[in-house]
Amino acid sequence: MIKTLGYAAYKAKEALAPFTFERRDPRDHDVVIDIQYCGICHSDVHQARDEWGGSLFPMVPGHEIAGVVTQVGPAVTKYKVGDRVGVGCFVDSCRTCEYCLQGLEQYCTQGMTGTYNAMERDGKTLSQGGYSTTIVVDENYVLRIPDALPLDAAAPLLCAGITLYSPLSHWKAGPGKKVAIIGMGGLGHMGVKLAHAMGAEVTVLSQSLRKEADSRRLGADHFYATSDETTFTKLAGTFDLVINTVSAPIDWNAYLGLLKVDGALVVLGVPEEQVPVGAFSLIMGRRSLAGSLIGGIKETQEMLDFCGKHAITSDIETIAIQGVNEAYDRVVASDVRYRFVIDMASLKSDEAAF
Ligand code: NAP
Ligand code: ZN
Ligand code: ZN
Repeated sequence: MIKTLGYAAYKAKEALAPFTFERRDPRDHDVVIDIQYCGICHSDVHQARDEWGGSLFPMVPGHEIAGVVTQVGPAVTKYKVGDRVGVGCFVDSCRTCEYCLQGLEQYCTQGMTGTYNAMERDGKTLSQGGYSTTIVVDENYVLRIPDALPLDAAAPLLCAGITLYSPLSHWKAGPGKKVAIIGMGGLGHMGVKLAHAMGAEVTVLSQSLRKEADSRRLGADHFYATSDETTFTKLAGTFDLVINTVSAPIDWNAYLGLLKVDGALVVLGVPEEQVPVGAFSLIMGRRSLAGSLIGGIKETQEMLDFCGKHAITSDIETIAIQGVNEAYDRVVASDVRYRFVIDMASLKSDEAAF
């Protein structure tokens, strides 16, 4: 077994604290990864605080993992020691259902194995995430990070990047398409960069005007504050695609009104509360309300290669792991530009804390 240091939530709503645990020795197809950076996704906060219910503790969060391969199992063919790799939101799936066979492992009929807050496929080992020194993952669930991208700013691509790339690609964002991104946070700022690189006309809908200059710098063509009521009348019937990345409940009916005929509102944010939707919001204009969950392995690699080609990474604020609890509060306060990334050297050099 491989002794691993991490930071865990021992209980819901408790501060994360040092935690020691073991990773399995590599099996035939496993890759052992020295974790160098891990992004902080708002989903980490939701789950560590048990806002969606059913959280499993102790929980080492983290599913935006970037690191270097240090060891491989005897049957591994895709990676070798020294490769720069990433791990995203899941580390396994059934591999045989219709969706796994199509590379849509995130929709596996048996349920994907979450990188943390899940049971491994043996049904008894708790999976643990990337706020840790090492992870052991089957090579088929590991991604290659292009050489052109630094590991720290690439880490958030593993969740925030693919979560936006997948719906933008599915709903065909590109030249001639008007795309609005609601929420300029970790997901939202990646949406701006990716939609812009795909050639779409991009609008940011943010609570205030505070993030306007940043949004334009990242590729937004237009920017509106949703606190201004006139935004909704000015933009009525404007967009082909509206992507909601907001972590709190907002009025989906109001945003459906911003769609053209046949437009789609795609929900990515997962608030604790349910959001009611009226039939008239949908039938007036044959509008669609849809959702999207991260992306499969094949599409995640495609996204990473796209980002390598277009030099797209996340705008990050690097922190030491000892600052993770303060960072969580700042994520909830929408006070991060635009993703916290933990430098795992701060964990490796703090063995005395364990
Ligand atoms: P984040 O960095 O906290 O960004 C969320 C943004 O939403 C904030 O920056 C803020 O943008 C806006 N916002 C926050 N509170 C709001 C409120 N009360 N009213 C209106 N707008 C508000 O979070 P994230 O990491 O991007 O994650 C966003 C959500 O997506 C979370 O719920 C997360 O769990 C979920 N998620 C889903 C998937 C998926 O596969 N579907 C994957 C990853 C994450 P402004 O300051 O611009 O208003
Ligand atoms: Zn995430
Ligand atoms: Zn499956």
